[in-house]
Amino acid sequence: MQDRHHETLAQLCADARETALLESIESLLGWDERTYLPPAAGAYRAEQITYLSGWIHRRRTAPQIGEWLDELRESPLAADLHSDTGATIRELDREYRRLVKLPSSFVEELTRATVLGQQCWTEARQKNDFAGFQPFLERIFSLKREQAEMWGYPSEPYDALLDDFEPGAETATVAQTLDGLRSGLAPLVAEIAECNRQAPCDLLTRHYPRAAQQAFGDEAAAAIGFDFSRGRLDITHHPFCSSLGPDDCRITTRYDEQHFSSAFFGTLHEAGHGMYDQGLRTEQFGLPPGTYISLGIHESQSRLWENLVGRSAEFWQHFFPIAQQHFPAALAGERWESFWFAVNAVRPSLIRVEADEATYNLHIIIRFQLERAVLSGELAVADLPQAWNDRYRQYLGIEPPSDVDGVLQDIHWSAGLVGYFPTYSLGNVYAAQFFRQAEKELGDLPDQLKRGDFAPLKQWLNRNIHQRGRCYRAVELVQQVTGQPLSAEPMIEGLRNKLLPLYGLA
Ligand code: ZN
Repeated sequence: MQDRHHETLAQLCADARETALLESIESLLGWDERTYLPPAAGAYRAEQITYLSGWIHRRRTAPQIGEWLDELRESPLAADLHSDTGATIRELDREYRRLVKLPSSFVEELTRATVLGQQCWTEARQKNDFAGFQPFLERIFSLKREQAEMWGYPSEPYDALLDDFEPGAETATVAQTLDGLRSGLAPLVAEIAECNRQAPCDLLTRHYPRAAQQAFGDEAAAAIGFDFSRGRLDITHHPFCSSLGPDDCRITTRYDEQHFSSAFFGTLHEAGHGMYDQGLRTEQFGLPPGTYISLGIHESQSRLWENLVGRSAEFWQHFFPIAQQHFPAALAGERWESFWFAVNAVRPSLIRVEADEATYNLHIIIRFQLERAVLSGELAVADLPQAWNDRYRQYLGIEPPSDVDGVLQDIHWSAGLVGYFPTYSLGNVYAAQFFRQAEKELGDLPDQLKRGDFAPLKQWLNRNIHQRGRCYRAVELVQQVTGQPLSAEPMIEGLRNKLLPLYGLA
């Protein structure tokens, strides 16, 4: 019996690896499309990708997989949930069941609604016309409700959608964590907004030549541990990270000569994502033990390097003299302390993607509360703009002058990505919990960062997070690594400790 189970498992894994091979080819086509594809080649590329994704979908929903899983699900091989074998069976089973619960007619309908939704969203933004977008958004939310019903959920439809991005997460727990985050951050942001000290932000908007930005960004990405022999950094308008194979991780950034931050912190952010992928076990590529846990955990790795390392005093004590060599005209005679203050400036703003480390999460909390209310039927899509503006006034003390700077700013809902937003804030929360634990275990982490020695932290992340693959759920991993349940407290404390002295408030 055991022998037969082992044989079945081997077949299941070989099949999953073959699907992963196809997916990696699809990713390569997608990466090329977003970086180097000539404009006229778009239509044929879309055909190539559609062809491959149809093929992949048929493979992933093949009845044979269901038969293998029926045999393995209750077998002794599946008993230890956190072992490589147990996690492989559990996760492939989860993926298979989610896919086969959606009839292909529904998937097509949702695809059509979101393609139209995105087109209409683009137009609505140009014309500041929420009313024109409203019927499309109503349709999308109604389909997402249907999708949640098909998948099933423990207590509310939002659970099912959240679970797609953050497996195992429950809405009520996430709501509680984000509430804690809000009650810690809102007063901090208000205190800073009222104080009379200002960050010297003009330092960041001087002339930063593109070639020098590129050289400095590459140097920093390599220094923190992004492996350029197993990855590349290219240029795109919307930065991203995509892995095309076990030893091939592609990240991108964009350069703006009048702004230092977007390229540099974007590079650190994507390098953090890339280092997670590069830290996964290569021999498990294509199988759950060689796969990232969730979007939130992925985001924790990018935010940890971007914010907790990249916006720390120690980081700039090390890197500021190097930055001065790269940008002599902009930075000669300046002090690292001023530069460090500038990259930590806090100011309530309307646009999420331009928000600072402290206010960012308030933008997310607003989106989470609104999409949850729409999904449950408590809030009508028609009332979204007003509810949006009310919350911005309440949480950030500002109100959008138009829907373009308000409810129309993000692509997510038009693309059917409902339940996605909280993963950004969960990433921040996880990152702070992990970082606090790394500080405890590594002892002199601040000294290491000050010396530019990032290897101990990177190896700690490799060991504790990356190499575990998908053998744990996100909250289990947090508990396992830190000995604590999910908590916003380390993040709030970390920000208070950094920002209050900078603003002369402590
Ligand atoms: Zn990210």
